[in-house]
Amino acid sequence: MDTKYVKKILKDTAYVRTGGSREEKKCAEYLAKRCEDLGARAWIEEFPVQAAKDLACTLKADGTQISCLGYRNCGSWDVEAKLYYMPDADRYSLSEAKGKIVLIDTGMTHDMFGDLYEAGAKGIITYSGDANNPSDTGIDQKELRGYVCEGKKLPCVHIHTRDAVKLIEKGAKKVSISISQEEYEENSRNVVAYLKGKRKESIVLSAHYDSTSLSLGSYDNMSGCIGLLGILDELKDEKILYSLYFVFCGSEERGLLGSQAYCAAHEKELEDVVLNINLDMIGTHMGGFLACVTAEEALVDYIRYFGAIEGFGLKAKQGVYSSDSTSFADRGVPALSFARLADNTVAPIHNVFDTLVVLSPGRILTDTAFIAKFAGTMAMAGTCPVSRTIPDSMKEEMDYRLGRKRRPEK
Ligand SMILES: [Zn+2]
Repeated sequence: MDTKYVKKILKDTAYVRTGGSREEKKCAEYLAKRCEDLGARAWIEEFPVQAAKDLACTLKADGTQISCLGYRNCGSWDVEAKLYYMPDADRYSLSEAKGKIVLIDTGMTHDMFGDLYEAGAKGIITYSGDANNPSDTGIDQKELRGYVCEGKKLPCVHIHTRDAVKLIEKGAKKVSISISQEEYEENSRNVVAYLKGKRKESIVLSAHYDSTSLSLGSYDNMSGCIGLLGILDELKDEKILYSLYFVFCGSEERGLLGSQAYCAAHEKELEDVVLNINLDMIGTHMGGFLACVTAEEALVDYIRYFGAIEGFGLKAKQGVYSSDSTSFADRGVPALSFARLADNTVAPIHNVFDTLVVLSPGRILTDTAFIAKFAGTMAMAGTCPVSRTIPDSMKEEMDYRLGRKRRPEK
């Protein structure tokens, strides 16, 4: 693998590919073909995701129309109510939400949605985008995720930050939301490639290939997919002991749906998976390299030593990374995510600025070479030394992240 190959893949996949879309399917087929070209058996595994079509949405504030996108799968609605800006979610603030359409600063989290629903809010407005960058104009397409709303629905719209600020500046009083859509199910997909080892046990390497609605997802996360291809290329002729599964996950951006589906479909086989190595965003010009370990502390120390031995700068810590490694760790498989994290001012994600230019093909290769060395060492280990226990602190953190437990107020 060389920089020419890296550039070609980045160029070939420079299109928006949201989970469940036709473009995601096109990219899945493309990646399966790349794996086969490298000499591995590869296949596609489909899984159902919620979908919406003919989505139309109007948002008016005191009679003036505001650019917006309705949330997919939040239902169809016609509501009018007082606008209530709720920057805090404390008990007092929530007590004021009853009967109002609420503008919030955070994303649509499980706890926030649940609290506003309980408080009797009539609708929710969220926003994103850089208000100070004139070329940032797009509105991200959001969805009301299944695990967020747990079957309850409210009219939800997303607007640009610039318009959110204007609403408050102008002191908008009354807003109306009208949303219509047809909700149904469609398929998203994971691409799986396989290298056979001597043992029954295996290691799963993963990287998501879907993007959000405004983004080409070059950094987040075609870079990680190229990393997987590079590791496959590096290890395909090695005498590996543990079999290697390379899982290119779909619909990660929709809430880790691809890795959740993979884990559910392979529940029995997961017992023989000794480690998950996930790649989510590597190869930027700028930024430090992180190993985020959702497994025992000893693996953190090992990766620190390994980096020093290999002459590769990195930071290693125990934690829960917002990516597909969490789905594996949640099912008891020791997992870690590798990432090169550039500052948001240099390489922003989930918007139109995540393009090829933030990436360094040379850096993608050196990051990949390091991860391949680590993966190869584990795949050829006398025995995988990582204990199959997820520390309680990590379990608790996953309970918060996955909306099963409420994070205590700080
Ligand atoms: Zn990502």
